[in-house]
Amino acid sequence: MTLSIFEPRIEHIISVAVPLPLRQCFDFLVPIGESGDDIKPCVGARVKVPFGSRKLIGIIQAVKSDSDFPENKLKPAIEILDNSSLFDAPLWATLLWLSRYYLAPIGEVMDAALPVALRQAGVLMPGSRKTWALTDQGRSRPVDELNRAPLQLAIIKRFMKKSLLNADDFKDTASSWRQAISALVEKGWVEETETEPRLAEREIDDQHSVVLTEQQLVAVDAINASIEQQNFSATLLHGITGSGKTEVYFSAMETVLAKGQQILLMVPEIGLTPQLITRVEQRFSDALVVMHSGLNDTQRHHAWWHAKQGNAKIVIGTRSSVFSSFAKLGLIIIDEEHDGSFKQQDGVRYQARDVAIYRAKQQNVPILLGSATPSLETFVNAESGRYSLLRLSERATKVKLPKIELIDLNMQPTNDGLSPGMLEAIKATLAKNKQVMLFLNRRGYAPVLYCKDCKQTAKCHRCDSHLTLHRRVNRMRCHHCGYESQLQTQCGACQSTKMVDVGEGTQRVEDAIALRFPDASLLRIDRDSTSRKGELAQVLEQARSGAADILVGTQLITKGHDFPNVGMVGILEADQGLYSTDFRASEALFQQILQVSGRAGRRDDVGRVFIQTSFPDNPFFAKVINHDFVGFSQSLIEERKAAQFPPFGFFALLRAESPHQAQALQFLRKARHDMAPLEGVRLMDAVPAPMERRAGKFRAQLLVCSNQRSSLHNTLANWLHLIASNKELKKLANSVRWSLDIDPLDHY
Ligand code: ADP
Ligand code: ZN
Ligand code: ZN
Repeated sequence: MTLSIFEPRIEHIISVAVPLPLRQCFDFLVPIGESGDDIKPCVGARVKVPFGSRKLIGIIQAVKSDSDFPENKLKPAIEILDNSSLFDAPLWATLLWLSRYYLAPIGEVMDAALPVALRQAGVLMPGSRKTWALTDQGRSRPVDELNRAPLQLAIIKRFMKKSLLNADDFKDTASSWRQAISALVEKGWVEETETEPRLAEREIDDQHSVVLTEQQLVAVDAINASIEQQNFSATLLHGITGSGKTEVYFSAMETVLAKGQQILLMVPEIGLTPQLITRVEQRFSDALVVMHSGLNDTQRHHAWWHAKQGNAKIVIGTRSSVFSSFAKLGLIIIDEEHDGSFKQQDGVRYQARDVAIYRAKQQNVPILLGSATPSLETFVNAESGRYSLLRLSERATKVKLPKIELIDLNMQPTNDGLSPGMLEAIKATLAKNKQVMLFLNRRGYAPVLYCKDCKQTAKCHRCDSHLTLHRRVNRMRCHHCGYESQLQTQCGACQSTKMVDVGEGTQRVEDAIALRFPDASLLRIDRDSTSRKGELAQVLEQARSGAADILVGTQLITKGHDFPNVGMVGILEADQGLYSTDFRASEALFQQILQVSGRAGRRDDVGRVFIQTSFPDNPFFAKVINHDFVGFSQSLIEERKAAQFPPFGFFALLRAESPHQAQALQFLRKARHDMAPLEGVRLMDAVPAPMERRAGKFRAQLLVCSNQRSSLHNTLANWLHLIASNKELKKLANSVRWSLDIDPLDHY
């Protein structure tokens, strides 16, 4: 039956966001199908549309009765793919806000929020499983009827051993088994059923009876109260390392699960938090899914589906899990909320923590932010009363925080990065059968290879950067673009063979330690030693089990691991963050020092921490020694307030890059010229990035600041509008790669 075009069709136009970097939607006519039983258009559903010579899958943003375009110019959409929205209502509102707030193309936002499998025309329900069973007929027929169909016969024989078969049971069978099964189904011997994918609960050892400490109880009561209210509230759980924040999360989760609701638990990087996941799995029998970048498209689709259907009671995930749909979300928890990995650094640049807070508000559920070293943004919100603040100031195990001591490098020069004081401390710790953890945030052997004759250093030819020497493989590597070359034994400039390596990375420290402590077992933990899949989790477990006496690692070891036997932490280099041009460097350094210090002495003895520095008198260290995070944050607040830096002023960074040196800068200068700053908005100069050349591209940036968020946004939105509507500017903008970063975390 064909629908008459004269029938009243009121809302026959859809506005569609397509997955392209375009800051607008496009109107199409609702498709009129052959059968008349077309899917009704609804907001949030996928639709296939013609776009130039291509076909794209977009998301319906609105269903309406008129368009700004003349109707005879509108093309019909090809097919509506879903009969309901893929996004729950609070998520939908969050995505629209995200697009506005981060000035991100709406189609790209929608795209980022969907698993890859659904960005195409795939079915909504992932991998529904087919299972097969014998019918009565199949059971009663004599099998010798199948003598000429050996595969079918083999399948029938399999049913004798197992009454229900699925694709897994045919893994070892010839690939034609599918035809054989179909033939049996055709004959009526076998019946086929299709089941929804299931998510099983797990069995757990019910032995988790921790008696909460006084402080934990207070925190749990407060959080439970806000869960009971079923209202939005944001709470900072500021608990020192080892204070038992995880147990507080778990109690809150129990309350939510008892109400039959779901939990979103966001973590920085899955690879770094295998322990937390294991702890959740051991504690809760409820069905859970883990979402992270290591999943393949199918696994991701499954996880998404289970969250949306409400099958997964607990969803653990990295930043993009903030885009999950839920059937009945009851609580969001962000562990290690200060962690930089919650900021998406390319594509749609969002801060997942902020998105999660907005989402919790839309969803009317509480959100709990946990950290031993909260970000200044969150700290300020908690101090001002916008967030509730819960403090755990004691360790759950009653062990005192480690004693932090400085080693003055002006008095004690280092050899291979190690001072006599540090070596002494290592020796003493090993003598007590405790583990030593050495932290140095630089991998490789030496960061610089230097010619003694002409003073040139080995540089990456694609970046403004040195090549790092990797002794293990005798190669030079660029840590910025991945370029690799053979070890240079001769200077590229003067052919001298007097090449020396200067400075130290984790590999050199490892070698130096091996030489000085030949009996100790050593474990190096950095990106080089853990590059294969699963290796990091394995190595972390090795570290935790106490198998290695000395751990040498980069920031990978600073995250919230619970290494029970670490007696001492050595921080080999702290000075770089002190005098950096990045205004966030000291904040990051303080967080890092307290985090890595928190790995020491978690069980019985008080741990010790030694920091090597050439600036022991810097007031920074007085606060570090006292674990005075609050005092440090307050001093930061004063500085930032005075300078009108975030979170007291608002920043946006316009970045551009181009293979031609002047082009990026030119584009930004023009942008600066064209921007009409609203009151209170300051445009800095367009400047080359601190590392101007990277991977062969020249990079430049333009910082836009304001003490008013709305005027900052409006200034930028007006400029975006201008380039979108001006042919010449559009052309210029297309000649470079540029991006806009609202609330940037990195300034390069
Ligand atoms: P955080 O995440 O705050 O660093 P964890 O939750 O990892 O701290 O807890 C640190 C250690 O203390 C863990 O080994 C945990 O099992 C233990 N712990 C937590 N709460 C208690 C408690 N109430 N009683 C005894 N041990 C506890
Ligand atoms: Zn030379
Ligand atoms: Zn490079």
